[in-house]
Amino acid sequence: MALTYKAYIDGRWVDPARRFEVRDPFDGAVIAEVADCDDAVVDAAIAAAARAFPAWRSRPGPERGKLLSQVAQRMLADERRLAELCTRENGKPIAESVAEVRYAASFLSWFAGEAERIYGETIPASHPGQRLTVIREPVGPCALITPWNFPYAMLTRKLGPALAAGCTVVARPAAQTPLCALALAELCDQVGIPPGVVNLVPSSDAARTAGRLIGARQIRKISFTGSTEVGKRLLRSCADDLKRVSLELGGNAPFVVFGDADVEAAVRGAMVAKFRNTGQSCVAANRFILEAPVAEAFTARFVAQIARLKVGRGSDEGTDLGPVIDDGAVAKLQKLIGDALARGAKLVHGKPPEGRSHVVAPVVLTGITPEMAIWREEIFGPVVALRTASDEADAIAQANDTDAGLVAYLYTRDGARQIRVAEALEAGMVGINEGLVSTAQAPFGGVKHSGLGREGSRHGIDDYTSLKYMASRIG
Ligand code: NAP
Repeated sequence: MALTYKAYIDGRWVDPARRFEVRDPFDGAVIAEVADCDDAVVDAAIAAAARAFPAWRSRPGPERGKLLSQVAQRMLADERRLAELCTRENGKPIAESVAEVRYAASFLSWFAGEAERIYGETIPASHPGQRLTVIREPVGPCALITPWNFPYAMLTRKLGPALAAGCTVVARPAAQTPLCALALAELCDQVGIPPGVVNLVPSSDAARTAGRLIGARQIRKISFTGSTEVGKRLLRSCADDLKRVSLELGGNAPFVVFGDADVEAAVRGAMVAKFRNTGQSCVAANRFILEAPVAEAFTARFVAQIARLKVGRGSDEGTDLGPVIDDGAVAKLQKLIGDALARGAKLVHGKPPEGRSHVVAPVVLTGITPEMAIWREEIFGPVVALRTASDEADAIAQANDTDAGLVAYLYTRDGARQIRVAEALEAGMVGINEGLVSTAQAPFGGVKHSGLGREGSRHGIDDYTSLKYMASRIG
């Protein structure tokens, strides 16, 4: 039987007139019916966030941090249940869901600490008798819009710094995965985060809800994680009210393996960088660029590892790769593989997905060229695209041949090359002999079309604060 979930507004669970269905991506079964927030409900959430803001911002930072810590602790204490919920609505294997719950909780813990360290500064004045001071103030009520691929972590990476800074929030999770967000709201409620500080408005119509949030004068900032296309649209629509905007957008990560690399280490890194969440990650390795001397050895070892991956239902023991999220994801993979093969790519492992099953086994393609869509677009699935490079300069040029700039990976044993290439790569983050870069204490974010702002780290709080400078005449 499908469960029913309400929206969370002003500390109460609200049941609007309409609901929408949430489906298990593995078999399409309806697993829940969720409150479909209309304009009036979204407006009520905005009003609640605005009302709660003055008291929340006035609360001492350490107190706000303590509440965030308590939510993190409850997440960890309840990680199995939360992980099962994530696997149900997102499809990822249970071990990955457990890892996500821990990763998501780590943002709350990290920003609980940061709530105690929102420092200002004093500046030496040019005139005697003057004091120049700077404080950091919360930007105000924020709207948080999050995707389905990491339904806990993409929310806590915003919720943590927002609440730590003294902002209140209205969050709108992706329609495919609202249950994890609602479970988080429940924990916020249980630890006593005051009514109106956290509001959650699931809806079936993302553009409409976002429009309502952007149109509201009380909302002072939009933080969005999702595709570059939608991010650009939101940025444009925030111009009229000059809202602050943070954007964590799509990637097209190069994974460069140089001739002097430790091939075994590169393959281990590639497995993580490519296949986490069935390849549906913004930091997924999208374009493998192999220097000619290692191309053959790397490809052979990589394919051997890929051949061992078990694809299936996320809750089944031993599943390495869960389903992709929906029909659109399957169709996109079919299109990218078909285009690559038509333009001369070679299929060296697997076969193109047929029909509409969301269970997609890995596919490996070599002979990729820059005009192929698979080179230019985010693959977002378990499809590997391999290309060779003649030397370091060629590898860097290939890696930077994209509008995206989220993350890049490089494998080499040469210390000078590690620094030289990492600095030449146009990306907000670089993994050097490392296939997994995200962690709460490091700044996550991109350059070029991959976004604006940073999440995580001490810098993550900056996106939720404004500087106020005060010049005081004291004598
Ligand atoms: P998406 O279509 O842009 O959706 C992301 C969120 O925006 C969802 O909540 C979605 O709601 C909502 N949305 C969709 N259309 C909208 C509109 N017109 N106005 C306002 N909101 C709208 O992205 P996706 O394909 O689901 O997610 C994957 C993308 O996110 C990839 O490009 C990935 O790289 C990126 N991503 C980036 C990061 C990062 O940190 N840089 C992290 C994770 C994912 P509905 O789902 O209900 O339509």
